[in-house]
Amino acid sequence: MVERALPQAAAVTGGAAGAPSSPAGRRRRLRAVVARLDQAYGRPTLAPRLPPVGELVYTVLSQNTADVNTDRTYAALRRRFPTWSELRDAPVGEVESVIAPGGLSHVKAPRIVKILEALSPGGGEPDLSALDDLDDDEALSFLQSLPGVGPKTAACVLLFALGRPAMPVDTHVHRVAGRLGLLDPGVGAEAAHGVLTAMAGPAAADIYAAHVDLVRHGRRVCHARRPACDGCPLSGICPSAGSFS
Ligand code: SF4
Repeated sequence: MVERALPQAAAVTGGAAGAPSSPAGRRRRLRAVVARLDQAYGRPTLAPRLPPVGELVYTVLSQNTADVNTDRTYAALRRRFPTWSELRDAPVGEVESVIAPGGLSHVKAPRIVKILEALSPGGGEPDLSALDDLDDDEALSFLQSLPGVGPKTAACVLLFALGRPAMPVDTHVHRVAGRLGLLDPGVGAEAAHGVLTAMAGPAAADIYAAHVDLVRHGRRVCHARRPACDGCPLSGICPSAGSFS
């Protein structure tokens, strides 16, 4: 089963349901999507998951890894290195062996150590208290200046740890938002961070709900290869419904 290319007109208008073209129309569409997904899956509630440095390390560990594996790997790392400075100062090979069960440890271990070094240039405990003095855009830029940190990881830290308005865009969010006509064709995941943050915000709680809802829907229904459009709670407002064969 492959995704069928929409005719040009349908790509612009979004087919039967129509894809909104104005910013206001897209905001309304996203609100309708979130309301339906909240009803289907339950309204997600934003609550800090981890302190900022922990969230940053957790997010690096989560790359290309299932959540359950990330939880285990993060717990193992904290057991072995109770402070961030101990982790920073440990031999990289030792860090690598502790996080090996989570996969890609040869990439993640040096990345985590380099990040912690960057967060403690004068020694002492690495921390992200500098974010408190920055506005949201500055905070995103600061986080993305750290080694190996991209827009998704930066947004995860701001939203999940600090409750600040930033939309993390993973593969599910990007795919589902595109199919719903919320993103112009060709807008990549990186550019989608700012677009979807503005569309879902300004409240961080609303951005969080939109993020979690789109991830859950991408995992459960709007699969990459075989979206289950029949019975999808969004089929009545989705311009891509039935476009797959
Ligand atoms: S499953 Fe189908 S109808 Fe539902 S959001 Fe995805 S493409 Fe649209």
